[in-house]
Amino acid sequence: MMSRTMTEAPLPKRIDAFKLVEVNQQLKGKIESNKLTRLVDSTRSLDDYVECEVEFGRDEERLRVLTGKCSAGVVMECQRCLGDVRFEISAEFRLGLVFNDDQAKALPKRLEPVELDEEGRLDLWDVIEDELLLNLPDFPMHPQDECQALKIEPQEDIAAEETERPNPFDVLAQLKQK
Ligand SMILES: [Zn+2]
Repeated sequence: MMSRTMTEAPLPKRIDAFKLVEVNQQLKGKIESNKLTRLVDSTRSLDDYVECEVEFGRDEERLRVLTGKCSAGVVMECQRCLGDVRFEISAEFRLGLVFNDDQAKALPKRLEPVELDEEGRLDLWDVIEDELLLNLPDFPMHPQDECQALKIEPQEDIAAEETERPNPFDVLAQLKQK
């Protein structure tokens, strides 16, 4: 798809999706993370901004689509050690823009429906936030070698093994004595 213009600005919240489809508009920008309250509630902390890139247009079947990607740095609670664990969340999406349930049902399976209001408007921040929430890990955890909950036990095991295992030189010394 060719784009006509590229706008660099804070990403607008409510947009005229119907019109943006017709001009094949691309938008690139940021959202202040603390405005995305559901994302705030689902994480311990967030980087200041969510980065987004979206494009409105029609697909090969002339259906109205919103494609895009967004990313955010988040800190969550490790389910193993309860410490902070950081993730770079990113989401890529391709959504079908519809006006009602019937249109939503008629969409091909590859397109997730998003409903516009009667005037063809859409809350773009809501869409982005939904996509990021879908991509948060269900069980956030550190990688095994970085998790505090796993660090103490293996070290104790190694220490225990070392003391219990007979030193081969001791055995040799005993043999020589005989
Ligand atoms: Zn951990």
